[in-house]
Amino acid sequence: MKVKSSKPKATSQSRNIRKGLDSSNGEIMAPAAIQDIEPTVRKLLSQLGENPDRNGLQETPRRVAKALTYLTQGYHQDIDTLLNDALFPIQYDEMVIVKDIDFYSLCEHHLLPFFGKCHVGYIPRKHVVGLSKIPRVVDMFSRRLQVQERLTVQIAHTIQEKLNPHGVGVVMEARHLCMSMRGVEKQNTVAVTSEMLGVFRRQQQTRDEFLKLIRQRGVDAD
Ligand SMILES: [Zn+2]
Repeated sequence: MKVKSSKPKATSQSRNIRKGLDSSNGEIMAPAAIQDIEPTVRKLLSQLGENPDRNGLQETPRRVAKALTYLTQGYHQDIDTLLNDALFPIQYDEMVIVKDIDFYSLCEHHLLPFFGKCHVGYIPRKHVVGLSKIPRVVDMFSRRLQVQERLTVQIAHTIQEKLNPHGVGVVMEARHLCMSMRGVEKQNTVAVTSEMLGVFRRQQQTRDEFLKLIRQRGVDAD
């Protein structure tokens, strides 16, 4: 059987995706201090026609600056530090699935949230990763300005690169507030994206098993 390579072509875009960078031409800068972001938020409030000095808004610039800094902290996390000491050698080559991982991200077009569930599966080659680390990888890439497609690709390629498994599958289902808040008829639209690498891409049986398992009701489902 001819085996198709699942490696992405080495365009600058895919190199940056694999490095975890979000733009094709730049390194991530250090974040501004919270007190440096506050005046910008205050100005924005004025520009929206609000009075930033009224009671309810006095603390808002500080809160917004803190919230946005928290929600974009993923730029400044290091994947190797995050995975440190959590790779275990193992003789196990069946599928490992972590599903229904809640995630919250910000769309880079509107700075509005998109959020939902992420499902990750992989087939170990020599190592498994501590199960709690998978949601942390999802968080690290979610807490940036994102588009859902790139977020999905980054999670999959990072796991492929760091664990070197036989393959990885990632499926993300999300609601985008930029769609549901702005369009009356799009309120319940869910966007689904997926990235399949290695055997998940090559073997339909593997892919089907993964998709079937993530559709099954969990132990604590309602
Ligand atoms: Zn948007």
